[in-house]
Amino acid sequence: MRAGDMLYEGKAKQLFLTEDPGVVRVKYKDTATAFNGEKRAVLEGKGEMNNRISTFFFRYLNEHGIPNHFIDAISPLEQLVRKVDIIPLEVVVRNIAAGTLSKRTGLPEGTELRHPVVELYYKDDALGDPLINEDHVSVLQLATEEQLKEMREMALKVNDLLKQLMEQEKILLVDFKLEFGVDAEGKLLLADEISPDTCRFWDAKTGEKLDKDRFRRDLGQVVEAYREIWTRLGGKKDV
Ligand code: UDP
Repeated sequence: MRAGDMLYEGKAKQLFLTEDPGVVRVKYKDTATAFNGEKRAVLEGKGEMNNRISTFFFRYLNEHGIPNHFIDAISPLEQLVRKVDIIPLEVVVRNIAAGTLSKRTGLPEGTELRHPVVELYYKDDALGDPLINEDHVSVLQLATEEQLKEMREMALKVNDLLKQLMEQEKILLVDFKLEFGVDAEGKLLLADEISPDTCRFWDAKTGEKLDKDRFRRDLGQVVEAYREIWTRLGGKKDV
């Protein structure tokens, strides 16, 4: 394979090789999917918003000592990131009950949790990304004990940082999903994206949903809500 070749195409992003074997180019797409790919749409402008918002969060986390894959944004839709092997786990952190936590526990959506909840999901489309525990991770050899410990600590730190940041913009950070990867030197890095596709954001005053639930639940104005997040974060600045 050569620089420019597509390495991988996911539901929301494409990955391309670059001249540097340690660096890949990520291109955000306008496609939206939900319910394990059963629901699909093209939402014009979503890719750009997610690239800008994700860039903003990764830069912010870099400045606050969270090692991550982000290198630079190079166009409205593209970033350069360090090449990592993704650990096949979705690490979800929750502050307020919503989505599958409400379904699983009966806690009404909007219930403030006494403390953050960290959950692990096995990234496997065929299995429907099931919720698993640390013993399952060990048996399936998805990550080492040390990596699990580091991922949990980093996820809780990211939660503190993002929660505080969003509170300043009058937005509640309800929950979010992180993915981690390991670089060529074996270092664990936060990877993938952090955007309204992967987080739940509620307006602190009105409770309005400003995230992918607008798509999942047919609430309309999806890209407009993403743009609202971007604007509150200081928008306009070029990436
Ligand atoms: N999430 C995600 N990708 C997934 C599943 C969940 O980014 O494949 C995010 C989701 O946007 C939310 C959090 O993880 O911010 C918790 O999602 P939940 O388990 O409630 O599932 P959902 O309702 O999204 O199916």
